Amino acid sequence: MNYGEIKKTDIANGAGVRVSLFVSGCRHRCENCFNEATWDFGYGRPFTEETEKELMEALSKPFIRGLTLIGGEPFEAENQRELVKLCRRVRERFKNKDIWCYSGFTFEEITGNSRARCEVTDELLGLIDVLVDGRFVESLKDISLKFRGSSNQRIIDLRRTLDSGETVLWNGQ
Ligand code: SF4
Repeated sequence: MNYGEIKKTDIANGAGVRVSLFVSGCRHRCENCFNEATWDFGYGRPFTEETEKELMEALSKPFIRGLTLIGGEPFEAENQRELVKLCRRVRERFKNKDIWCYSGFTFEEITGNSRARCEVTDELLGLIDVLVDGRFVESLKDISLKFRGSSNQRIIDLRRTLDSGETVLWNGQ
């Protein structure tokens, strides 16, 4: 897996101050995508053991609330297979931090019948606390929205959603 950037004090992509990992590779091709360069799975640099050490170090700071996975598309199968390993280790090491993930797939696509489905999808979903779902839609763009670009996107409390079987939106806490 390649990544374009790690932001170590990000306040735009999830609650609190976060470490955000921008993975490479996306096949959605949204009109007016904010960063077309990230469509290429070879964009940026390989995510190595050294990169993971750097990310863990950034996450360990007490003022960091959690990790955000963003892209590109974290739920392209190639990326899921690497991110599930990373999320397992983040969960093990940082019990009091949360994990947010941005995906151009909807929750229904990820859990239903789409190219997002692979052998680790359910495990990865179980490791994520909050999913911001859906493609960026230019005609629904709204700069007043917090943590999302267009009004079709939802901020889903994945823990409560998976527990209850009903889609529960994040309550802003
Ligand atoms: S899902 Fe995100 S990265 Fe992919 S094309 Fe759409 S806006 Fe761009």
